[in-house]
Amino acid sequence: MDVNKLVNSGVAQIEPYVFGKPKEDIERKYNISDTVKMNSNENPWGVPVAALEQAEKMLPRSNVYPEASNRILREKVAGIFSVKPGNVFLGSGADEVIYYLAMGFLNDNDEIVIPGVTFPIYEIAAKIMRAKIITSSMDGFGIDLDDMLNKITERTKMLAVCNPNNPTGLALDKNEIYSFIDKVPSEVLIIMDEAYMEFADPGRFPDSIAKFKEGRENLFVIRTLSKAYGLAGFRVGYGVGDERIIEILNRIKLPFNISVVSQYAAYGAMNDKKFIKSTVENTIAGREALYSALESMGLSYLKSSTNFILIDVAYDCEVVTEALMKKGVIVRSAKNYGAPTSIRVTIGTKEQNSRFVRCLADVLKEIGGA
Ligand code: PMP
Repeated sequence: MDVNKLVNSGVAQIEPYVFGKPKEDIERKYNISDTVKMNSNENPWGVPVAALEQAEKMLPRSNVYPEASNRILREKVAGIFSVKPGNVFLGSGADEVIYYLAMGFLNDNDEIVIPGVTFPIYEIAAKIMRAKIITSSMDGFGIDLDDMLNKITERTKMLAVCNPNNPTGLALDKNEIYSFIDKVPSEVLIIMDEAYMEFADPGRFPDSIAKFKEGRENLFVIRTLSKAYGLAGFRVGYGVGDERIIEILNRIKLPFNISVVSQYAAYGAMNDKKFIKSTVENTIAGREALYSALESMGLSYLKSSTNFILIDVAYDCEVVTEALMKKGVIVRSAKNYGAPTSIRVTIGTKEQNSRFVRCLADVLKEIGGA
């Protein structure tokens, strides 16, 4: 059998997604324990108690399939944003929503415009569908919305904007986003991925869902419970958009895509406003503390609107990442994001941040970097 002949020609183009490695893998590899995981932008303060309570309550019901349309959770999200349940689509993480958007809307050679530096799942999902990826140029590390607009052709089906963006942590201002949304032709879908929106400055951040409600029917907003809500392992994300778009997603959705336990965990987390508030406050405090530490080390970084920071370590980031891992601090090399001297570090607890700073200083001294 020649798998290379059998494989879907789009899939043949894909470089496998580089996952943030699990703690256990790193501990086994370097024969260490007590590592800190700062590589996947998870919530270091754990799972909200209200989510755990709801999930535990549902565990014994796991012999039964979940309700296939995720109705209760859809109604919950719809209530939060004052939209119809039919305007909400729930996925096993935002990742699944992104896959279904690609499956539902992209044909061979249709074009999707994505920024040169962004979350890689957009490229992977589009390649599976044998769509053509059109990369817009970056404005430094920022997304260049004008260039995205310039790249629209008759074949463009979709644009994907992560705001704030991963791995840069940079957010676009509401006025820039609003004018962009107004300029995109109505037959092109705008995917606005707001996975990290809770950590952005609310005064400058767009209310994209309000824009959709005002009538921008081609605007589809994606959110996740993996970050501020502390549910990365439960896998719950969602999209808010036009009912006709969601009807397409429902045609291809796996019938039971979110376990009942996860759905109730999400329900509980959405009610735990205190947890979200303290997560955001602690993240912002940690972000500021890390900025000061990095400045005193003479390192440059991007001012983040998320729960992670992209730091230029002025040295081969693979070497620095590896050396940090050996010391038990797991961070992400940004090489595959096109930033060969940068690492992406999730903001942790106070103790985790201090340990990261200490270890980074030691590593840079050892390897003779900055
Ligand atoms: N969008 C962006 C920009 C992300 O960074 C991530 C997670 N890393 C996701 C979507 C997917 O999140 P999840 O599948 O955990 O909801």
